[in-house]
Amino acid sequence: MLEIPESTTIAKQLNEAVLGKTICNVVANSSPHKFAFYHGDPAYYKTLLSGQVIGESVGIGAMIEIFAGDCRIVFGDGVNLHYYNDSVKAPSKHQLLLELNDGSILVSSVQMYGAVLAFKEETNDNKYYLIAKEKPSPLNDNFNIIYFNTLRTKESDKLSVKAFLATQQRIPGIGNGVLQDILFHARIHPKRKMGPITEKEYINMFHAVKETLAEMTRLGGRDTEKDLFGSAGGYKTVLSKNTVWKPCPVCGTAIQKASYLGGVIYWCPVCQPLAE
Ligand SMILES: [Zn+2]
Repeated sequence: MLEIPESTTIAKQLNEAVLGKTICNVVANSSPHKFAFYHGDPAYYKTLLSGQVIGESVGIGAMIEIFAGDCRIVFGDGVNLHYYNDSVKAPSKHQLLLELNDGSILVSSVQMYGAVLAFKEETNDNKYYLIAKEKPSPLNDNFNIIYFNTLRTKESDKLSVKAFLATQQRIPGIGNGVLQDILFHARIHPKRKMGPITEKEYINMFHAVKETLAEMTRLGGRDTEKDLFGSAGGYKTVLSKNTVWKPCPVCGTAIQKASYLGGVIYWCPVCQPLAE
């Protein structure tokens, strides 16, 4: 799943691989998928995008946005985006395929669910997209401790730490993936309630959000995810499916896992105790 480090990494790779190329052909919805979401009728994508020149790409929260002439192409967090320099190598199943003027192609496929949106600029009223565009990114300076303090309210103190950081688009682009290492570095168990989190712990959480995401992005995303060219990211996850039951790098205790709030959480029982 795309989260901030991956959307940022893939956008950067798009700027190296496809910027300035012209879209020659478009195939949308060739493999119908129940949970692939389009902006209007995907049959219209060919008319909309053919002939457009690819401009800059940006990561917005967990989404990737490509500027293409007066259009935008947006991929949501459940979409795999892959670049091939030769169309022969392309997979046969996909939800959107863009052929470029030098024979290379961009292929996107939806895993469990995901949005593949193409639209004329300013016409997308998708709520997730608009919120993600509007809120500060933890990678930027305007996401500072003053801003982070405004996120915590009486209402949010009723939530668990995981729900606080990774739901309701409170911080777009933080999901159940990056959350694990953020909370490891903050030394906070994901099931703890926000209410009793002390000011010091909250400041630790802020630094862990900023530093963990910056490091993951600097290294090209997490090792559990693929980049635009199909390679795993260079950031070695401390807590993930790759490390469960292995010794914690700080104290040596076996890393635990459990299902919680619609995803698997991982933690070290010593470094991140649940009981106060
Ligand atoms: Zn530990």
